[in-house]
Amino acid sequence: MVFEIQEQVDLTPYNSFGVSQMAAYFADIQDPSDLRQAREFAALNRLSVLVLGQGSNTLFINDYPGLVLYMNNRGRQMLPGAGMLRAAAGESWHEIVRYCLKNSLYGIENLALIPGTVGAAPVQNIGAYGVELDQFFVELEAFDLKTGEIRHMSKADCQFAYRDSIFKQDPGQKLVILSVTLQLALEPALEIGYAGLADVLAGQQVTPQSVFDAICAIRSSKLPDPKQIGNAGSFFKNPLVSKAKLLSLRESYPELPAWNTEDADLVKVPAAWLLDQKGWKGRRRGGAAVHEDHALVLVNRDNASGEDVVLLAQEMSSSVLQSFGIVLQTEVQII
Ligand SMILES: Cc1cc2nc3c(=O)[nH]c(=O)nc-3n(C[C@H](O)[C@H](O)[C@H](O)COP(=O)(O)OP(=O)(O)OC[C@H]3O[C@@H](n4cnc5c(N)ncnc54)[C@H](O)[C@@H]3O)c2cc1C
Repeated sequence: MVFEIQEQVDLTPYNSFGVSQMAAYFADIQDPSDLRQAREFAALNRLSVLVLGQGSNTLFINDYPGLVLYMNNRGRQMLPGAGMLRAAAGESWHEIVRYCLKNSLYGIENLALIPGTVGAAPVQNIGAYGVELDQFFVELEAFDLKTGEIRHMSKADCQFAYRDSIFKQDPGQKLVILSVTLQLALEPALEIGYAGLADVLAGQQVTPQSVFDAICAIRSSKLPDPKQIGNAGSFFKNPLVSKAKLLSLRESYPELPAWNTEDADLVKVPAAWLLDQKGWKGRRRGGAAVHEDHALVLVNRDNASGEDVVLLAQEMSSSVLQSFGIVLQTEVQII
């Protein structure tokens, strides 16, 4: 296909909230070599650049005045070295999980049904049910919009953390991820300790396939499908607080749950629990609402604008700050 830059493109189909905003310029990147032309075009016209996958972790609150690069390059390849798979950025993440399972490559079953692309997976170090991407990550290839060079980045270069990486802030935001290489296990290495998962699997033979099926079933029953109702999964990260803070909060809220982290001084507190205490489930602002069953999931109930969603999110985080003295950070990228 000939590389083309389109003007005034409606972004509604390109974000899972389904909010309507326009991109001044838009390029469907099917071949990484297109990025050179896109970079030149942006430089010539002094445009900012936004990299977009399937928009399932992105909320637009304004029209985008620059160039949107919609990452749509495809391809997957087994590399020399047992269990090493390279996948192009535009591949669907869930399809890669299925492909691995079909080819007896194990480890990422718990990350099934996470919407979005392979290229976005390292950006927030996707995670679910006790597993995170960085456990399987080997390296990635990226196009540097600043220099026009291709870079190979190791796990250490990516600075992975909880829903975070170097790609979330400058200068990492200038890197367009082209492909990701994963090291999968050749023998099943199942992680089924996560609350809820073990219950669903109780009484069944536990295999990679049954874990995959259980994860898909749990997610489909619990989370709203963005095709039916716009959303971006969890809107906020689970906050990290000091153990001292936890103890002082538990004087007023003895039930407050917390999980240990790798840092002995910090615990992770469920944002959903905090929001639940403040009665946010089901509440609405304009066309935006908090899901009836999930205080962490904001939805586009009725033609919401990005601003409706953000105003609702701000009210929610203010209420948590006031009551618990905890700052909630958004997981969703607000543009
Ligand atoms: C129903 C639902 C459930 C979800 N559940 C989970 C979950 O369990 N765990 C979890 O971690 N996330 C979850 N998410 C969030 C989302 O699925 C992930 O963040 C996913 O990785 C986003 O992929 P995307 O292609 O849609 O990214 P986008 O929203 O398009 O982009 C996200 C960010 O990555 C950047 N980006 C995208 N592609 C590239 C690239 N090739 N190079 C450089 N930067 C890029 C964008 O600029 C943006 O900042 C959920 C979302 C939904 C809607």
